[in-house]
Formats: sequence, C-alpha cells, structure tokens
Amino acid sequence: MASFNILLLPGDGIGPEVMTEVEKVLGFLQQAGVARFETERDLVGGAAHDAHGVAITDAAMERAKAADAVLFGAVGGPKWDKVAYEVRPEAGLLRLRKDLGLFANIRPAICYPALADASSLKREVVEGLDIVIVRELTGGVYFGEPKEIVTLESGQKRAVDTQVYTTGEIDRIARVAFDLARTRRSKVSSAEKMNVMRTGVLWREVVTAVGKDYPGVELEHVLADNCAMQLVRWPKQYDVLVTDNLFGDILSDIAAMLTGSLGMLPSASLGAEDAKTGKRKALYEPVHGSAPDIAGQGLANPIAMIGSVGMALRYSFGLGEAADMLDKAIANVLASGLRTRDIAAKGANTVSTSQMGDAIVGELKALA
Ligand code: NAD
Repeated sequence: MASFNILLLPGDGIGPEVMTEVEKVLGFLQQAGVARFETERDLVGGAAHDAHGVAITDAAMERAKAADAVLFGAVGGPKWDKVAYEVRPEAGLLRLRKDLGLFANIRPAICYPALADASSLKREVVEGLDIVIVRELTGGVYFGEPKEIVTLESGQKRAVDTQVYTTGEIDRIARVAFDLARTRRSKVSSAEKMNVMRTGVLWREVVTAVGKDYPGVELEHVLADNCAMQLVRWPKQYDVLVTDNLFGDILSDIAAMLTGSLGMLPSASLGAEDAKTGKRKALYEPVHGSAPDIAGQGLANPIAMIGSVGMALRYSFGLGEAADMLDKAIANVLASGLRTRDIAAKGANTVSTSQMGDAIVGELKALA
C-alpha cells in the first residue's frame, strides 16, 4: 500500500475544527486500504505566535518541506490584530508559500446541483458548474520592484507598484493549466490585458507557445475585464482559466461567489516539479479564513477543508479514484439535504461541523 506523509497545520479559529473532520476522512481512507497516511501536526499563525513568538517555526518549515503534502486550516483573528507585522499570523502562510516555492494556485469552482439556489446567480447559470482557476501566485504586481510611495518636490506623493513577468514564470504556470486541462475537458482560457499592458503581450505570446506542446488542448485568449463579465454571464463556457496574480485574485473571488458559500471552496498551491522524483511541493487549504465569529461553536462547514483533501488525493498522491469517491460522497450528502448553517435556507434544520464530517465518512463507507 502506498504511504504518504502529511503535515497538518490547523491554525486558528475554525481551522482546528475543520481539521478534525479531515482526520476522520483520512482515517477512513486508510482503513479502507486506499493508502497509508502518516500525519503530523504543528502550529501556524496565531497559535504558533502564542507558543513560540513567530507565525511558523523553522522546525515546522522543515517538516513542511519534508512532507508529501501540507494541509492548512486557517490563520488569524482579532486576538493577534496588534502583533508586529513580521510575526502576524498571515506571515506563516506567506512563508510557507515562499519557502516551498508554491507558484501555482488552483481553485476549482464547482456548483453542486443541491446548492444551485444558494448562488446569487440564476440556477441555470451555475447548476453543474465545474471550472478551475489557475492563478500565478509568486510574481506580478504584488512582488515587482520598485514598490514604494515617495514624496515629490511639489509635496505630492507618488505611489508605484510594478507589474513584472518573465518568460519562465509564465511558461511554468501555463504548463500547470494545460496539464490540468488534459485531465478534464481539454480547454484552456488565458486572461490578461494585452491591449494596455506589456506584461499582457508577453503573457499571450508565451501561453500561445506553450499551447503548441499540447495539440489536443483548445486554447483561447480573453481580456481579463471581459473575463470578469463572462464569469457572471455564462461561466460554464470555461474549463481551465489561467491568469496572473492580480487578475487571478479578483477572478477567483468572482468564481467563488458562483458556488454560494465560502465554506465550500477548496484550493491547492503547487510548486515546481522535482526533475528526479516528478513530485511537487504542495499545500492544500480552504479558501475561507479563520471565521472568528463562529469559532468554537461547531458551526463551521468542513466541506472546503475536506475538499482540499480531495485535491491532495488527486494532485499529490495520484489517487484520482479516491478523490472522485470523496467528491461523490460530498455531493450525495448535500443531495440528501444535510446542511451546515452557512448553506442552509433561513429557518431550515442544520447540522454541526462534526455531524457533517461524520455524514461524509458514512457516505464514503457506503460508496467504498
Ligand atoms: P473568513 O473567511 O474567516 O469569514 C468570512 C465569513 O464567512 C464569516 O462570516 C464566517 O463566519 C464565514 N465563514 C468562513 N468560513 C466558513 C465556514 N467554513 N463555514 C461557515 N461559515 C464560514 O474571513 P474574514 O472574516 O474576513 O477573516 C477572519 C480572519 O481570517 C482574519 O483574521 C483574516 O485575516 C483571516 N483570514 C485568513 C485566511 C487564511 O488563513 N488563508 C484567509 C482569509 C482571511
């Protein structure tokens, strides 16, 4: 039986609550003979700050580097709002992304038929939606230099952010998108603004060149502003959508709203492929934060976190069948009418975090 090392970093707020449900799922998959999962836990975010004065320790970073995958809950909360900038909870996540070289952020937006009415868009627009957004995560305008605010002689201030991309950065994110498209409906849409930005011109050129290596995959280019419109007009026209850091930040949040609730959205951040082993460093996390408003009350929806495990099964462990089974278990539980409070109609009966986790494990048992 294949064996995988997983580092669990529950973090703060609802992070530990949803991570407990992940442990149930992994426990069941191991018992069912899918694979062996060796899990270790460590602290990150405010929890690490309280224990060690930093958002993540060097020792935890070493464990993250050695793991086959990292599962991350969420960090932050009002308790740490005033701690020094370098050791604020989010610094733990930023260090993980940077030190593991996680340049590709993958966010699926799936709309389960049972939840189509929870979206702010019409049922026919979102029902059955299954798209993936691939966002470049370590380059572009968030990191480009110069990045500064200077005071001019006139007394006015001048702020600069720099949008910068190299061929190599665009090439590697495009390949992630094309590889993914090959396992899906074989279509890549690439969004930039080549009409007004030089980085957009280079982006389109490099993505087009990479596309030549993937003859079976259809490639289309779309201007990022038009893409934002298309995402709310008819999102099902997309399969894999690849874009830069800034546009990806915005377009993935739009896509998030198509599916109804933050508590439903998993994500993966992947690093470069190791030439020898073919493995990638990877971190899987729900899109939501630590939700301090509901922490400790058993109200958190664990599906985003459990869905993140599904992504780890698919992208890090090569266990696509188990990932499909987990997706089906989630869909079946939702179809049976079970709801945590965030996805329930007003006044409807709801279940707790652990009841939802137990129901998904129960459904897995029925499917296995
Ligand atoms: P949030 O995602 O934590 O919460 C936004 C709203 O969605 C809240 O009303 C919350 O109750 C609800 N919600 C979120 N996840 C849910 C779930 N699984 N089930 C049910 N309801 C859920 O965002 P926020 O309130 O802006 O931020 C709270 C804290 O989280 C802040 O300290 C912020 O910095 C941090 N944060 C962390 C991450 C991360 O760790 N990756 C991401 C975003 C925000």
